[in-house]
Amino acid sequence: MNQTIQAIQAIRGMNDILPDEAELWERFDDAVRGWLRAYGYRPIRMPIVEPTPLFTRAIGEVTDIVEKEMYSFVDALNGEALTLRPEGTASCVRAVLQHSLLHAGPQRLWYAGPMFRHERPQKGRYRQFHQFGVEAFGYAGPDIDAEQIVMCARLWDELALTGIRLEINSLGSVEERQHHRAELTVYLERHQKDLDADAQRRLHSNPLRILDSKNPHMQALIEDAPRLMDFLGEASLEHFAGVQVLLKEACIPYRINPRLVRGLDYYNLTVFEWTTDKLGAQGTVCAGGRYDGLIGQLGGKAAPACGFAMGVERLIALLKQEHGEEAEQAARGAPDVYVVHQGETTQLPAFRAAEALRGAGYDVLLHCGGGSFKSQMKRADASGAQVAVIIGDDEVREGSASLKLMREDAPQKRIPLDLLADEIGNYLFGDDNDGNL
Ligand code: ATP
Ligand code: MG
Repeated sequence: MNQTIQAIQAIRGMNDILPDEAELWERFDDAVRGWLRAYGYRPIRMPIVEPTPLFTRAIGEVTDIVEKEMYSFVDALNGEALTLRPEGTASCVRAVLQHSLLHAGPQRLWYAGPMFRHERPQKGRYRQFHQFGVEAFGYAGPDIDAEQIVMCARLWDELALTGIRLEINSLGSVEERQHHRAELTVYLERHQKDLDADAQRRLHSNPLRILDSKNPHMQALIEDAPRLMDFLGEASLEHFAGVQVLLKEACIPYRINPRLVRGLDYYNLTVFEWTTDKLGAQGTVCAGGRYDGLIGQLGGKAAPACGFAMGVERLIALLKQEHGEEAEQAARGAPDVYVVHQGETTQLPAFRAAEALRGAGYDVLLHCGGGSFKSQMKRADASGAQVAVIIGDDEVREGSASLKLMREDAPQKRIPLDLLADEIGNYLFGDDNDGNL
């Protein structure tokens, strides 16, 4: 009866992030948080599960996300329709309205965390992925659009990422899109036999979305379609020009892509995407734009809004590709001190010494699990620690510890326990750091 037990695996498209990589993520998070502070954005944290109607209303019924990508389920306990959030903007707007944050004036907010979309998993496209999202509420002018774009450019610089290109477009107003839609529909009907199944389906429900198609067989047809840009009125054109003046002022190169329509329904006026060639097919690392109608659409008092979201997996992949080992190495945390101990009486004193050093502010790895002195010193070396604190029976009798510099050739030295933290400080931070203890 030798039954083998099947090991359980993670869900397809949902990844474990192992320590080597997770340390890189933490460094990335730290850099991003500092950058957000520099632009006056404040954190907000929303639940991961929301009522399903929030997303159908905000994102639009006829979008990839709502049509086929949402993890929706019925709460078995009370029958509520729930969804794992596929993006953060809808939740963020809900939270802002629920807590009347806009009563206090305009808000610059950011959030981060996992998002869920039931897509076909492939490199750079997962079912659980992570975003940093930025939303500004209550600002109507093109200055905030431009600031958000400029701030992205600064982040790429700070992360030393190169070759991320900016595309922008304007989606105009609802009325302008309606005029365009009418002409677009006539055009697409004329070419109906060349439309793929998705496009056939969207021809009357959401034709603008057809322009977003990635199907290579449709590209020529899309190229010749009526352009939304030609339907924009004076106010929309002025807003778009205003954004561009500021981008030029900041020396940010960009390309106007009249076919950039974004995958979500809530956008108007400015939309933008940052894309790289270095990640294969999933090259968009950051995308966003203005969505002045969404707050009203979700039941709030109308207020302008503009935001973007970055795909963390794709940016980390880019970091690794451009800076490889160097990036992971820089992110790897090493303790200041590794405590080695061997002997009958050493466990308790070593435990106490490690706690005392942590109390003094050091990062300390206490050797656990025994083993020979030699094997413990090997571990100390591999840990990357600057110094090893060695406690044997002799040291315990004496109330001392031996200090060994791991990265320099210097003789080991006995130090009374109560002076240990200071001695280590002298070595790690002292002016006379010449290898002498
Ligand atoms: P795509 O056209 O690639 O499907 P999208 O328009 O659906 O992208 P957004 O909703 O704008 O993407 O999300 C913002 C960013 O989040 C994307 O630019 C991308 O970097 C990242 N992202 C979106 N979906 C995924 C996913 N399934 N896996 C990993 N990252 C993703
Ligand atoms: Mg998508």
